[in-house]
Amino acid sequence: MLTPLMLLAIACAMVLAHELGHVVITHALGGRWLGVEFKGLMLGVRLSVAPLSLRQIAWTLAAGPLAEACVAVGAAALWPEDLRWWLWMLSAQWLFNLFPWGLVPNDGTRLLRLWRHGSVDAPRHR
Ligand SMILES: [Zn+2]
Repeated sequence: MLTPLMLLAIACAMVLAHELGHVVITHALGGRWLGVEFKGLMLGVRLSVAPLSLRQIAWTLAAGPLAEACVAVGAAALWPEDLRWWLWMLSAQWLFNLFPWGLVPNDGTRLLRLWRHGSVDAPRHR
């Protein structure tokens, strides 16, 4: 039976897997992990992607959400009766992280900037 503690544990596992996904793929492709950073309640990792191609940078960005999906699949395999919760949690995470809101520098915003401007940094305006 699903408990609030299980939901919290899976949510934390999704966040950790997300950040680890970024770090592992960045490292595998030749980039570097520079550390963990906290911005308010937001947890993130600082990465050096300077030696990577645009396609490789896109994979480092996609790795976080894909790692979350792995956690959701694992939770669904262990507790299939709660599948709707795992799908809801994954959907909420992806909506928050992959939709390019533009207000917070989430992965969706960075992927959009990479596609439009060839850089994950915000375009500079005069
Ligand atoms: Zn991310």
